[in-house]
Amino acid sequence: MKTELKNQLRQQDATVLAQGYSPAIRAMEIFSIIAFVALESALVWRLWGNPLVGPWMVLSAVLLGYLAADFVSGIVHWMGDTWGSTDMPVLGKAFIRPFREHHVDEKAITRHDFVETNGNNCLVSLPVALLALLLPHTSATWVFLSSFLGAMIFWVMATNQFHKWSHTDTPPVIIGLMQRVHLILPPDHHRIHHTAPYDKYYCITVGWMNKPLALIGFFPMMERVITWATGLIPRKDDIGAEAALELFQTQAADAPPVVKAAQELLEGGALAEEPGAVSPVRPS
Ligand SMILES: [Zn+2]
Ligand SMILES: [Zn+2]
Repeated sequence: MKTELKNQLRQQDATVLAQGYSPAIRAMEIFSIIAFVALESALVWRLWGNPLVGPWMVLSAVLLGYLAADFVSGIVHWMGDTWGSTDMPVLGKAFIRPFREHHVDEKAITRHDFVETNGNNCLVSLPVALLALLLPHTSATWVFLSSFLGAMIFWVMATNQFHKWSHTDTPPVIIGLMQRVHLILPPDHHRIHHTAPYDKYYCITVGWMNKPLALIGFFPMMERVITWATGLIPRKDDIGAEAALELFQTQAADAPPVVKAAQELLEGGALAEEPGAVSPVRPS
């Protein structure tokens, strides 16, 4: 079943995907990096010397922020891989294209310079960085929340860099060491995602969330819910309609019990509301 599926995978043209990187997008990325560094620096300056800030608070904010960033990286990566198409206005070029390019040419990321690697993530992080800076610092809870958001967004920003290093043949020695002790995304761990049809281990900051999320069938469950609500087939644009549909049906057969239960619940609900509703495995 797996080999058949692999043969059907439609590969998008890597050259066309790479050409989608326009000067306008690059300018936006440079602006985002500058704005991001400014906002994070202002936050550190504001927290500095605040009597409510202690070492344990900082440590827990940084650790929780790391876990949250890993989870966010999984969600965003999953959305970019699974839904929408590269032809969509704005979103298609700026966000979906890099994910699709990465599946057909996984070394391209290692040729991207600092701006192309990190600009995207700085852009999406700006609203949260601004929020973290503007929160009141009047109580321990507010200070913690502000530190947590600031730390999380820092790790979100670092995600593509960690991801890039996981594809680099000979990363700097210290980076290689951090990968081996799994303090940042290790190459072997990330390889699991790069196995066709690219449907698991989406978390790419450090990857600590990948196993727990796989155990509860988190992403397949989310896909069921979205397909049920919209009729869209996951990965249709990335691997082609035929392969996507086949994968969707295969997944349904060997889904973890919790996913099956959710599916039955959803299908039951759909039928109760609307007799004869289109089944999620045969979307219109
Ligand atoms: Zn991917
Ligand atoms: Zn990768």
